[in-house]
Amino acid sequence: MTLFEKIAARQVPADIVFEDEHTVAFRDLHAVAPTHVLVVPRRALPKLSDATEADAELLGRCLLTASKVAAQLGLDEAGYRVVINTGADAGQTVFHLHLHILGGRALTWPPG
Ligand code: AMP
Repeated sequence: MTLFEKIAARQVPADIVFEDEHTVAFRDLHAVAPTHVLVVPRRALPKLSDATEADAELLGRCLLTASKVAAQLGLDEAGYRVVINTGADAGQTVFHLHLHILGGRALTWPPG
């Protein structure tokens, strides 16, 4: 099992802020913004570049959960960023697809 599957199954502790049948959202252990939450599908997909047509619904559900969680955490008015690091050059470290929700401060562009 991946680390994030274990968090989704509550075998590894995490600060879970939202969960439904398909997705789980929890606070990042090393937050880089005042609000930094990860959204993961319960079903592991290593990275975005592995996604196929069969994953279309899962990907959509992850985005909808990100939108719900951002609203729940009060980020809607000021705005927020959703990031998917994919592969080595993007700095992906956990190979279970996850969306970073970053908010609570003005974010710069382009990212580093
Ligand atoms: P990435 O670099 O996109 O693969 O991001 C992985 C993220 O997972 C990093 O921001 C880590 O801080 C975060 N992370 C790693 N282990 C945990 C954990 N046990 N609980 C919460 N977040 C974690």
